[in-house]
Amino acid sequence: MKVKHIDHIGIAVKSIEKAGKFYTDIMGFKIENIENVSDQKVNVAFLPITDSEVELLESTDPDGPVAKYINARGEGIQHIAFRVENIDEALKELKGKGVRLIDQEPRAGAGGAKIAFIHPKETSGVLVEICERD
Ligand code: ZN
Repeated sequence: MKVKHIDHIGIAVKSIEKAGKFYTDIMGFKIENIENVSDQKVNVAFLPITDSEVELLESTDPDGPVAKYINARGEGIQHIAFRVENIDEALKELKGKGVRLIDQEPRAGAGGAKIAFIHPKETSGVLVEICERD
């Protein structure tokens, strides 16, 4: 598959407002947008840096995946996303190689992206997302 670059690093936080202050006030990032992704039960804040982003993920539901992550491990890096040229081809290739996937088909992610997660058992414990966007 053709991986273009790191698309974003997803950080699970209890509060975008609180966690965002470090990135904006200290690091000089700008919060470009905050989007609700109802499918994932999160609000996502986008903090772009060159062709990548930091994404702050704040749960909107105590049963959502980010809330569960924080309950189990505390706040921190929750996933890393690689941008691929063609997500359909990438998924086909991964399936062909027997890689265990969380998403068999692409689904809608934040920022109009098509995304899919690879099972962390395949990646030494890192939740890896592949994504395609224009
Ligand atoms: Zn992501």
